[in-house]
Order: sequence, then C-alpha cells, then structure tokens
Amino acid sequence: IRKKLIAGNWKMNKTSADAVQLAQDLVTEIGKVVDIDIVICPPFTSLESVGKAIDGSTVKLGAQNMHHEASGAFTGEISAPMLRAFFATHVILGHSERRQYFAETDAAVNKKVIAALKNQLRPILCVGETLAEREAGSTLKVVQTQLEAGLEGVSKDLATSVVIAYEPVWAIGTGKVATTEQAQEVHAFIRTLLTKLFGEQVAQKVRILYGGSMKPANAPELLAQKDIDGGLIGGASLETRSFVDLVKAAV
Ligand code: 13P
Repeated sequence: IRKKLIAGNWKMNKTSADAVQLAQDLVTEIGKVVDIDIVICPPFTSLESVGKAIDGSTVKLGAQNMHHEASGAFTGEISAPMLRAFFATHVILGHSERRQYFAETDAAVNKKVIAALKNQLRPILCVGETLAEREAGSTLKVVQTQLEAGLEGVSKDLATSVVIAYEPVWAIGTGKVATTEQAQEVHAFIRTLLTKLFGEQVAQKVRILYGGSMKPANAPELLAQKDIDGGLIGGASLETRSFVDLVKAAV
C-alpha cells in the first residue's frame, strides 16, 4: 500500500559541477522509475543546477535543512519558499548531524516541520538514538520524544505528507547497520505512535525510512520488513552505481 521511497542525502559533498554530473548519470539510469519515489538532496549550492538536471525525470529534489521563517534577518539561512522556487519537493529536517553539531532542538525541528508543510514541502523528519542511549535501554523513549515533539501541531490532513526517517546515530557513516530486527522493532513502534497521534488510516500511509550504513548488500533484507518503507542513504548515495543498486533493491 505504501510506495517505497529511496532518498539520497548528499550531506556536505560535491561542488555544483560534480553534483550535476551525478544527477545526470542517475537520470540516465533511473530517471524513468515510477514504481518507487526517488529523491536526491544535494547541498543548497547545487539545488538549482541539480533541479534543472533532473527536470522531466521521475527523480525528485530535496534539501537537507531550512529555516522556519519565510524571510528576514537570518544571515546564512534558507527558507521554504526559496526551496520551492527551485522545485524542491522534500526537505530533510532534524537530521542527527544537525541536532549534534548545530544544536537543533526538538522545538526548533517542530517549527521547521510546520513551516515545510505550510509551503507544500514534504518533511523527512529524522529521529534516532545514540549508542549510549541504546545501551542505556532508552531507544524507544528517545524516539518517542523526538517524534511527538517533532510532529506537534501537525494536523491529520497534513500528516500523510510527512516522511519519517529512523536513523540510529551509531549506524550513521560507521558501517554498522542496525539488524533487521532492531530496525523493524523501532519502525513498528513509530507506526504505533503515529496511530495514536493520527489514527490507523493515516499511520498506514506514512512512509518510515531506515537510515544508517544502508548499502545495496543489506538493503533487500531491510526493505523486506513490514514497516520499513525505504531508505535515507548517505555514503552510498554519492556514487551512481551504489545508489542505482539501492533503487533497484526497492523496486
Ligand atoms: P550513511 O548512509 O553514510 O550511514 O548516512 C546515513 C544518513 O545519515 C542519511 O541521512
């Protein structure tokens, strides 16, 4: 019932020229795929050029962050209407790197989620525990807090536009992927929380992505889990072959 979604988070990688090259290669290989949704999220500096490179293909454009205000004196920031002007359809919000290195709080992430929805951008809301939190047995509690705070004030109508990404922090860029059991357990828990917040019908429609060292080799098993609806890919999204193979694993 849920269309799978594979999203590439390019993080702080690639100049505009390199980004366009990768985008063009991806369009050649997977630009006609309609069975799943494909989103690539280049840095702000490449959004416009990558947007042009993927125009007319089925590959969609996402950003990695944004400010919650539409405009104003916020030096160095980018707003939702600016992203929309580049035909972005998605925006990653609350990524653990933003939380860790840029002190983003749940309240700040929530403001961004609301602003994204107001501007017809689909937020990809990231949640996930650190290694210390997992070892302390507080994984579900941490995920619940981040999810409920992140989605506060989101209406039932708009909730189906939200995408959740479960990214255990200890699995990001470490090569240590969560086991399918670990991932499915949290995904099912998130689905239960969504049911409590928005009802069964909405919860069954929301895509929950897994992120953290997802690669073509481990993707099929993860994507076969009942509540894993796709992936948010870092490292393996930076190279044509591996991203194409991840997309193929999801089709
Ligand atoms: P890696 O795939 O490099 O582990 O990164 C995951 C991630 O943070 C995607 O947002």
